[in-house]
Amino acid sequence: MKNSRRRRSGLYIQVPFCRSRCPYCHFYSTTDLDLIPAWLEAVRIEAARYQGRFSVFDTLYLGGGTPSVLEAADLHRLVEGVRAVFFFASGAEWTIEVNPDDLTPGKLKTYRRLGFNRISLGLQSFHDRELRLLGRRYGAETARRSFRMARESGFENINLDLICAFRGQCLKDWRLTLKETVELQPEHVSTYLLETDLSWNRPGISPLGESEQESFYLEAAERLANSGYLHYEVSNFARKRGWRSRHNLKYWNGVDYLGLGPDAHSFQSGRRWWNAADLPAYCRHLRLGRDPVAGLEELTSEERRRENIYLGLRTSRGLSLAGLPGVPEEILSGGLATIARGRLCLTERGFLLAEFVSGLLWDRLPLAGNPRQPAGFQ
Ligand code: SF4
Repeated sequence: MKNSRRRRSGLYIQVPFCRSRCPYCHFYSTTDLDLIPAWLEAVRIEAARYQGRFSVFDTLYLGGGTPSVLEAADLHRLVEGVRAVFFFASGAEWTIEVNPDDLTPGKLKTYRRLGFNRISLGLQSFHDRELRLLGRRYGAETARRSFRMARESGFENINLDLICAFRGQCLKDWRLTLKETVELQPEHVSTYLLETDLSWNRPGISPLGESEQESFYLEAAERLANSGYLHYEVSNFARKRGWRSRHNLKYWNGVDYLGLGPDAHSFQSGRRWWNAADLPAYCRHLRLGRDPVAGLEELTSEERRRENIYLGLRTSRGLSLAGLPGVPEEILSGGLATIARGRLCLTERGFLLAEFVSGLLWDRLPLAGNPRQPAGFQ
């Protein structure tokens, strides 16, 4: 029973709208809000195509883009549409991502009424100057107010998204953002490094060098751990085990999930597929009764093994040694991982180098076709 609960699927809906584009962002979205009605209709059609293909969902995640650009009537239509074709387990985790400047008491009330019990605030920083550098449309006071409003409206599970290690940000100010964060006592915190490969060519914002990134990352890990947060995944911290993101754990634990909307990704029984990152094309395909899927891959057992290693290493649970073909000495002597109770777990520094460590473990895997135990992350 416990196991079947763990394997329940997750539903993700990509809300591909933003009021303006932030210079560092690599997610697909458009600022043309006139397309909302067409997108709503397309999601309704797409959901119906998957009716009966996934059993029970125990998480719903509205991400983006910016789901908080949706008005109450749009959100009602969306939620009614998915409730009409999918079955949700009782006590399911329902998360909505919001931007601080969109929030009003009325919107928060709507979220609660529709069944959302977790809210993810895309705060990024508590500094006006940093928020300007990031191209955000609000100041620190709006960020603080949004948290208070969310709490007062009854949300008992709040995530704060923070971003760090970009040029123009100093460690002193990052410490202050972390201090304010822990004082607010959100149930969950996600800290993201500005990604080098994705932002190098964007004007106005660029990441700090590698050693500085490490300092910012380790500062966050230490500050949050000292304040009682559990560092349970590379970028994610929870105040208690029960407040880990149930939805995101599905991605790291290899559990099935369905993604609806342009650029949404899905995974079921070793098969992965994704929709076109193109809203007009997504709507057109569905209106004409066609599949909006832009790509599909069937993972071989070798690829699944590699993926399990990579994803397993990203979490504090780590990997079972029983499923590994050995651990290269440099991982342990370099302080990147420790072994405890038969599992290989990355250290804080190791989390930063999860890809590198995965590569070292992959090199130890036998060649494809050589039957052996799957690499364990269970
Ligand atoms: S609001 Fe969020 S999704 Fe939209 S551009 Fe900014 S960071 Fe990206």
